Amino acid sequence: MVATQTSRMSIQENMLCVREQIASAATRAGRNAHDITVVGVSKTQPGEAIREAFDAGLRHFGENRVQEWEGKRDGVASLAATWHLIGHLQSNKAAKAAKLFHTVDSVDDWVLAQKLVRASGEFLCGAKLRVLIEVHLGGEETKSGTSDAELPELAEKIKGLPQLELAGLMCIPPYLEEVEKVRPYFARLRELRDQLQRRLGQTLPVLSMGMSHDFVAAILEGATEVRIGTAIFGARSLAVR
Ligand SMILES: *Cc1c(COP(=O)(O)O)cnc(C)c1O
Repeated sequence: MVATQTSRMSIQENMLCVREQIASAATRAGRNAHDITVVGVSKTQPGEAIREAFDAGLRHFGENRVQEWEGKRDGVASLAATWHLIGHLQSNKAAKAAKLFHTVDSVDDWVLAQKLVRASGEFLCGAKLRVLIEVHLGGEETKSGTSDAELPELAEKIKGLPQLELAGLMCIPPYLEEVEKVRPYFARLRELRDQLQRRLGQTLPVLSMGMSHDFVAAILEGATEVRIGTAIFGARSLAVR
């Protein structure tokens, strides 16, 4: 059903296929497909693949390593796209991340948030750096993300930083073959977001959740950004997740 073995199809064909699935999921959920942003996850992919996806209409790209992006951005960073950091960020790379990305979607720690602030003062000339807080929803697969118990306090502190624009939440649920079983994790992130909106007295419009194999379920639970790698760019080498 969901295309994952797509390496032999072109990026353009893959994107059409993804957009069709997004449209039908949005219809099922009574939502507008235009409210769902595709973040093409281009980690391990060369600049040519990014350009090809851009030419096919993709405007948001996600990379998970600062260093990798630094090495390959030369030929593509001038494209009118939004560059997302979606992977775990070590605080010693925060300054670079604030400089090289428009949005850091994986903030999970107060020290890191403060380092982003310090760096953004230098690079952003008054503009705000968008951030999402990554929430760890259980499962052993990833260790990154703040716990749901620590989320409210972290969010309140980040809200107090005028250099950052807290736009919403992100999660990486465990990988489960049966996509229906992932849905409760997505529902949980939406609930946490709703609670947090009330607590902070501000809207948090962004829910970044859903990857190649489960983005339909994520859309049914309210995802506004889906992070799709394999289904657009084809398989990555197995060494890199
Ligand atoms: C790699 C990655 C994705 C995309 O994974 P696919 O299964 O290839 O779609 C999404 N989000 C994060 C944080 C990732 O690291």
